Amino acid sequence: LVESSLNRIKEVDDRVKAFITVDEENALKKAEQLDQNPNKDAKLFGIPGAIKDNIVTKGLRTTCGSQFLSNFTDPLYDATVVDKLHKAEAITVGKLNMDEFAMGSTTENSSYQITHNPWHLDHVPGGSSGGSAAAVAAGEVLFSLGTDTGGSIRQPAAFCGVVGMKPTYGRVSRFGAVAFASSLDQVGPITRTVEDNARILEVISGRDKMDMTSAHEDVPAFSEGLTGDVKGLKIAVPKEYLSEAVDPEVKEAVMNALKLYESLGATWEEVSLPHSKYAAAVYYIISSGEASANLARFDGVRYGVRSEKAKNMLDMFRFSRSEGFGDEVKKRMFLGAYALSSGNYEVYYKKAQQVRTLIKQDFDNVFANYDVIMGPTTPTPAFKIGEKNFDPMVVYARDVTTVPINLAGVPAISVPCGFSKEGLPFGLQIIGKHFAEQTIYRVAHAFE
Ligand code: GLN
Repeated sequence: LVESSLNRIKEVDDRVKAFITVDEENALKKAEQLDQNPNKDAKLFGIPGAIKDNIVTKGLRTTCGSQFLSNFTDPLYDATVVDKLHKAEAITVGKLNMDEFAMGSTTENSSYQITHNPWHLDHVPGGSSGGSAAAVAAGEVLFSLGTDTGGSIRQPAAFCGVVGMKPTYGRVSRFGAVAFASSLDQVGPITRTVEDNARILEVISGRDKMDMTSAHEDVPAFSEGLTGDVKGLKIAVPKEYLSEAVDPEVKEAVMNALKLYESLGATWEEVSLPHSKYAAAVYYIISSGEASANLARFDGVRYGVRSEKAKNMLDMFRFSRSEGFGDEVKKRMFLGAYALSSGNYEVYYKKAQQVRTLIKQDFDNVFANYDVIMGPTTPTPAFKIGEKNFDPMVVYARDVTTVPINLAGVPAISVPCGFSKEGLPFGLQIIGKHFAEQTIYRVAHAFE
């Protein structure tokens, strides 16, 4: 399996460009060791996977898609999620491309390369986990890990026609995942099928004493509840997720999915999440504020590249940061520092936190009467490479169907639900109550 994964990478990755680093030597060595001592009980025995490059891997370069970390070749430990995968005997074959520090929706903000959508090479794979989605879609690995702060697992999964899960906030340890916005970030799996996805989440979930934000919550065997039974399921469809901005082809695919659920014995009704219209604004204020604090640790002292030009300490901080970070990252830090500064805090950051509570309450209100919420993962299929040069406000507004879920902290999956005339995939998004991943998987599996 590992050899076939490495061969496939050699065959297609010069066109797809999903990988920043391929660790052929260690992957093969590990596979040989497992062959000599097979443990058939291991949950992921010998399964080749790859990891988004903002999740640290011991002794394997971890760049976050940034030049700042281009020399970070030897992290001292594995992130808890990586450690858990390795204990289940999965094999890491490499690290995947991403928007720099996970900021973006196309993977074009990577400072290494542009990843191409395997279905249509002149289109983006989505982002920020574009490498993670493209690698699975192109058959280079059987699974990957991504991170989702404001859609970065689900949106690329939708654009690449694969399955991507953002678990409940706290379900998965973030120890060793480089923080972007700590009140929103979650790690999750990207796979070809719902069943595979459930199997990976089962392995990486659970309380971790190294991450105080990980939840004390039992981890059910997600992959064992895939009965196909959705009789009596109550589905809510928010009218805000099917607005004018949604492509008619995407809308039609979602309506067809709802018909299929009806034929399986579920019912659906239109509902409203009235504060959705503020979600993108709230998300960009909160996530940028948190990013400006989290990224302060990149100072040229502890990790990464130190500017050669600096002659004193302040210049070292200043030059290392100006040379190391790309434009999108700088823009977010300016925006975040501005929103947090005294005088502005009350007007922007605090206000955004208050509206975040209203967005959360919208979800609570709907979940009081329904089992799941459904809609499109994204308003449109994948954009063309280069299209992001549009107004950033337009690009940010496209996050309207994904970011409310992070603000509310609930889990959501994207499953493939059709193709545009051009042959680009769409995703159906299924959103559940806190810690209801098992319901989401059962409902998603019934659709496959
Ligand atoms: N589009 C979002 C952003 O640019 C995606 C972030 C994420 O989930 N990492 O912030």
